[in-house]
Amino acid sequence: MQPCASHPFANIRRKGQGNQSHRFDSLPDAARRTSGSKMKMCGTPAWNSIEAPMYEITVEAGFSSGHYLRNYHGKCENPHGHNYKVRVTLAGRELDASGLLLDFKLLKQVLKPTIDRIDHQMLNDLEPFTELNPSAENIAKFFYNETNRQLAGMTDGRVRVKDCTIWETDTTTAKYSE
Ligand SMILES: [Zn+2]
Repeated sequence: MQPCASHPFANIRRKGQGNQSHRFDSLPDAARRTSGSKMKMCGTPAWNSIEAPMYEITVEAGFSSGHYLRNYHGKCENPHGHNYKVRVTLAGRELDASGLLLDFKLLKQVLKPTIDRIDHQMLNDLEPFTELNPSAENIAKFFYNETNRQLAGMTDGRVRVKDCTIWETDTTTAKYSE
């Protein structure tokens, strides 16, 4: 295991798609309903449709965990540790009454239960990694699912996870999105 590190939440970023979103938001409801004729023809657009205005916010956090890879021949078949970093990007079309997609304070809280569960633990001993290999790819999917679950109760479906990226080292990442 590598030395313990502090894992501050850092580098939270907001990203809006500029004036397009503001113009859309300033339209009266009737105009909004009729402005997306292409969307109507295609039925309900996917939540992450590139045609719809979208806000994004991003949060990063770190954790240190042990793991080993099953059905793998090489150094990573032996137990060892990483100082991982996770980046989660959330997206949604509607801001709340304060003009936020999600308060950054809540954004940190969304990640915390998942981080607390796996930090300074052997991943292979924890669900779902008792069966699933704790590869960076599967850890990214794990964060995607867990964060979406946390968000569902918090935002009533207004905000979804867009993607999750896991850094296993400074130079190697795995990303998951749906
Ligand atoms: Zn490893």
